[in-house]
Amino acid sequence: MEIAKYLTDLHLCKHMKNIAIVACRKVREQTLCPGDTRCLVAFARREGEFSRYDDDAKIIGIVDCGECPGSTVLLQIAAMNSTALALGEKIDAIHIGKCIVSFCPYKEDMMKAIKEKVSVEIVEGTHPYPPNLP
Ligand code: SF4
Repeated sequence: MEIAKYLTDLHLCKHMKNIAIVACRKVREQTLCPGDTRCLVAFARREGEFSRYDDDAKIIGIVDCGECPGSTVLLQIAAMNSTALALGEKIDAIHIGKCIVSFCPYKEDMMKAIKEKVSVEIVEGTHPYPPNLP
C-alpha cells in the first residue's frame, strides 16, 4: 500500500515536458503548412520525432526563424522563452521544424547558433509527413 502511494506521488510530481518548435517563416507566410498542422497532428499522435514523448509532454510555443537567413531566430526563441517563464513554464526541448531541416539553405548556421546559445535539448525534426499532404 505504501509503495503504491509512493509511486502515485512520484507520478504526480513528474515534471511535464514542455516542447517548443521553430518553423520556417517562408513556409508559414506562404501557407504551405497552414496552422502548423503537420507538427501539431504529429505531436498529438506522437509520430515522427515526437514519438519519444509520453502523455505528459505538451507543446507550449511555436515560433519561426524570423526571416531569411534566420539571423533573428535567437530573438524569436528568447521572446518565447520570456513569455513561457512569465507564465510559470519552462521550455525543456526545442524541435527544429521539418520545414527547416528539409528545405532551409541556411539550416546549418541556424542550428549551430541555436545549439550554441540555447541551453535546452535541441531536436532536429518534427513530423514525419511529406510536404504535399493536403
Ligand atoms: S532562413 Fe530558412 S527557415 Fe527561415 S525563412 Fe529562410 S528558408 Fe525558411
